[in-house]
Amino acid sequence: MLTVTDLRGADADITAAVPRAETDVASTVPSVLPIIERVRAEGAAAVLDLGERFDGVRPPSLRVPDETIRAALETLEPAVRAGLEESIRRARKVHAAQVPAGSVVDLGEGAVVENRWTPVDRVGLYVPGGRAVYPSSVVMNVVPAQAAGVGSLAVATPPQAEHGGWPHPTVLAACALLGVDEVYAAGGAQAVALLALGLPATDTGPAVPPVAMVTGPGNVFVAAAKRALLGTVGVDAEAGPSEIAVIADETARADWVAADLISQAEHDPLAASVLITDSPALAADVAAQIEQQVPGAFHEEQIRTALTGRQSGILLVRDLDHAIEVADAYAAEHLQVHTREAERVARRVRNAGALFVGPHSPVPLGDYCAGSNHVLPTSGTARFSSGLNTATFLRLQQLVRYEAAGLAEVADDIAAVAEDEGLPAHAEAVRLREAR
Ligand code: NAD
Repeated sequence: MLTVTDLRGADADITAAVPRAETDVASTVPSVLPIIERVRAEGAAAVLDLGERFDGVRPPSLRVPDETIRAALETLEPAVRAGLEESIRRARKVHAAQVPAGSVVDLGEGAVVENRWTPVDRVGLYVPGGRAVYPSSVVMNVVPAQAAGVGSLAVATPPQAEHGGWPHPTVLAACALLGVDEVYAAGGAQAVALLALGLPATDTGPAVPPVAMVTGPGNVFVAAAKRALLGTVGVDAEAGPSEIAVIADETARADWVAADLISQAEHDPLAASVLITDSPALAADVAAQIEQQVPGAFHEEQIRTALTGRQSGILLVRDLDHAIEVADAYAAEHLQVHTREAERVARRVRNAGALFVGPHSPVPLGDYCAGSNHVLPTSGTARFSSGLNTATFLRLQQLVRYEAAGLAEVADDIAAVAEDEGLPAHAEAVRLREAR
């Protein structure tokens, strides 16, 4: 099912060989602009209409009533509730540890700069719900925002036809467990527009204040809307179809590696599963295990599509140094390391959204219950961005506190540079104070 690409030759071009899904956010932007404009012009009615069109159901109301959220928690399967609570407990611990300490820097007499982290005031969290529902994504969005101290949180997630047009009850129950009561039955670009633009109060509903930032994963329409509205709101990194890469040597268990590659493929037909190995024997064993494990899988068709797509494959490399080079070029969302001295190998990797070290740290652990965040950068964006974390929801503000003596100390330096830049009024504003 997985194609094998041999990169062991001296002239192999790693960058060209690294597989990628074809999701073109830029070319989807024009198709979401009319959706955004409709929401701007027609408000709640447009969001409800678009739900009917794209999700096949018109929600009974845009905002999910408190009693619907409470009922979802009351009817939640106890084992699922326990799982979500454990996921929340671990994620809270890890994300609380991410709050950066501020600092006060003394630069001489009467010269202080303070670095102060302040949370974003209001955030909109998108929880996907087209092909599958993701209560786990509620946890992964809400926990870091709460750890950062964000005061106002709104969740938007698609309406579900089989639940009378409300979002999936487990998603609502996860919101209740986290203490979030502002939930909108809206998906896709219309949900991003609703959060970013807000809505005025009408006869049919209260106002929705616009958020300062929209975060959360989603399909290409969600990503395109976030791109189109960037500037009106802040956004997190684009999180597209899931990716797993596994660096493995001959010590890895082929059945476990195959199961991990299959597990990410069940997310999406565009999901990418990539094995990077220096062992042709392991490559053959993993390929055989995949042929054995996929038939009869719950999402068999989707898994086959993902594994046979151009974004998935087995990459044969010369040795572990070469494997690290390839992994860095790929910059996977999730990178598992199943090798001898796995931690030493993992620490040498520079580009990956999250690293899963050793055979007992599979990606599904991180999807739900490791305590780490599962909203991670995809499509190679791990080269320059991080997954969702507490700092995503914080801004660094600097408080500049200079007294007369501190300003006098640098007045000539300011004047020299300002005049050189052709901005003499800058120099004058400082000199005036010196003359006092
Ligand atoms: P989604 O909620 O992102 O998208 C569904 C919405 O897309 C619908 O509500 C609809 O309004 C809109 N839509 C569908 N067709 C449209 C069209 N033709 N024009 C305009 N809008 C349209 O749900 P999804 O589709 O299941 O995608 C979720 C994605 O998020 C998957 O790729 C999944 O792998 C990814 N995901 C990533 C993470 C992560 O942490 N990286 C976590 C969970 C999910």
